[in-house]
Amino acid sequence: MSDRCVFCRIIRGETSSYKVYEDGRALAFLDINPSAPGHTLIIPKAHVARVEDLQEEDAISLFSALHRLVEPIQRAVEAPACTIGINNGPESGQEIPHVHVHVIPRSRGDHGGIIQGVTRTGRPQRHEIAETAAKIRELASPDVRPL
Ligand code: 5GP
Ligand code: ZN
Repeated sequence: MSDRCVFCRIIRGETSSYKVYEDGRALAFLDINPSAPGHTLIIPKAHVARVEDLQEEDAISLFSALHRLVEPIQRAVEAPACTIGINNGPESGQEIPHVHVHVIPRSRGDHGGIIQGVTRTGRPQRHEIAETAAKIRELASPDVRPL
């Protein structure tokens, strides 16, 4: 918990929010500045800025809350789809340094984009893709992610 973090204050009930779900490790509430009706934020109760810093139990609970909430969120606003995303680190646009999953309901003709459109850097060549894959394989701990 952080005294200065707005999401920690929401968890403690010191800042009001439209909560939609809570369990021992995760909380979900509506975004105050929604990109679409039903735009929901799902957060771990632990104050952690980035996904890679989450305890595994919190990562599991976070995804489990997401899994549970996607359908109710979509049904509540009669949206047939949603975009799910995390801004992970300030360079990606993360403004609140407490992990949060955005669930943004989507519908045909909403003029939104796709996640693959968030950057406009050059596209790597095939051999560069292969090199990157090798690097990631090497860096990923084999006992955590066996290949
Ligand atoms: P980020 O860019 O960090 O991924 O997005 C932060 C999100 O949190 C934004 O969509 C913003 O509207 C939302 N937000 C910021 N402050 C508050 C708040 O006090 N209450 C709620 N419900 N949402 C907030
Ligand atoms: Zn926090």
